[in-house]
Amino acid sequence: MVSSADVVIIGGGIVGASIAYQLTVAGCRNVVILERESSQGKGSTGKSMGGVRAQFSTPVNIQMSLYSIPFFRDFQQTMGHPSGYRAQGYLFIATADRHLEYLRANYERQVSAGLKTASLVSRDDIVTMVPQIRSDDILCGSFCSTDGFVDPYSVMTGFTLRAVDQGAQLIRDAEVTRLSLDAKGVASVETTQGSIATRTVVNAAGAWAAGIAKMAGIDLPVEPLRRMLVPTEPFDKIAHSAPMTVDMSTGFHFRPEGLGLLMAWNDPAEKPGYNTTFDRGFIEKILTRAVDRVPVFEELEVNPSRAWAGLYEMTPDHHPVLGESPIHGLYFANGFSGHGVMHSPATGKILADLILKGTTDLIDAKLLEYARFAEGRQIEETAVL
Ligand SMILES: Cc1cc2nc3c(=O)[nH]c(=O)nc-3n(C[C@H](O)[C@H](O)[C@H](O)COP(=O)(O)OP(=O)(O)OC[C@H]3O[C@@H](n4cnc5c(N)ncnc54)[C@H](O)[C@@H]3O)c2cc1C
Repeated sequence: MVSSADVVIIGGGIVGASIAYQLTVAGCRNVVILERESSQGKGSTGKSMGGVRAQFSTPVNIQMSLYSIPFFRDFQQTMGHPSGYRAQGYLFIATADRHLEYLRANYERQVSAGLKTASLVSRDDIVTMVPQIRSDDILCGSFCSTDGFVDPYSVMTGFTLRAVDQGAQLIRDAEVTRLSLDAKGVASVETTQGSIATRTVVNAAGAWAAGIAKMAGIDLPVEPLRRMLVPTEPFDKIAHSAPMTVDMSTGFHFRPEGLGLLMAWNDPAEKPGYNTTFDRGFIEKILTRAVDRVPVFEELEVNPSRAWAGLYEMTPDHHPVLGESPIHGLYFANGFSGHGVMHSPATGKILADLILKGTTDLIDAKLLEYARFAEGRQIEETAVL
């Protein structure tokens, strides 16, 4: 193993890989990614639904999507590797006045932030897009045609391959066990394969980020929360060009995947923790909501052994924590609250800018810094699925 590096990134998921890529693009080549598993993608990245959207409620999240989605679109050209981006859109369906007001307010913020592909849509538009939907209680909706899905594993691999081509090193089976600090800040990273001297460390450990921060004596408010996804067997009664369709009355959402569908629902009974066992009782809960909105889903077949669970990394205000921590040289890229795949391109750029230049043009980085919690500057994102 190398004995020193300019930057050490802890975590080889999509976020760590994107940061490594952007650092090497900017000319910082002595970059090491440490991954404790024998292969990448075993954290949240490999469990994700792959949804990408700009339909958020806060300007900073919209800005991160405005950078990231074109990046996914052009990924093959830039990276020589597919992102799997499919611009099938996200369709939010409102069934109550409060949803309607909410979508309207978000739409206005999205337009002011520069999003040109979102629109408010009528019940008829919704039925045209997804004719199988039960529409009696639908008031209206919102749709963004450049939202859609990517293949998270492929994006992570693309970032890693290019980063490695440009000088970065990925070390697998290397679990970080300790951070050593001195009067100047971070001094070295101890791993199960030895120690690396460095003055710059990035915590990209996903749902395990709080444990890494603790090694530097920092309380990072990032909590793991189980999320379950249910794929269906092949199903041809919904077009495979359908958007990610979100029923705001229950939070149930689905999108086409392979020959079938991928279904998700945020169970409010879920409690923070590292449980990633799929609970078979969830299938009935989700199918009840599915059939309620799309009656033909009564004919769906589900094989429980194909369903899975992974972890969201939640912060109190549902925004990531990006930038330097109170310990000099220790950076955070954590707490994406379910948006780490879609915001990985922007995160890589922001972190590379902050590490190498101390500033970024992509967002107002102050908004997402760690100090916001202590200073009461949290900014709540409510468009969390
Ligand atoms: C079911 C589900 C659906 C989701 N759907 C979406 C979606 O539609 N769109 C979206 O944008 N996001 C989605 N997400 C969230 C998204 O998957 C995450 O935000 C994203 O993958 C975070 O990437 P990451 O690289 O930070 O974390 P991870 O992919 O978890 O990577 C962190 C890595 O750090 C490693 N690590 C941890 N501790 C150590 C250590 N001590 N030493 C060395 N390595 C360590 C882990 O092994 C892991 O590989 C979903 C998540 C889940 C679970």
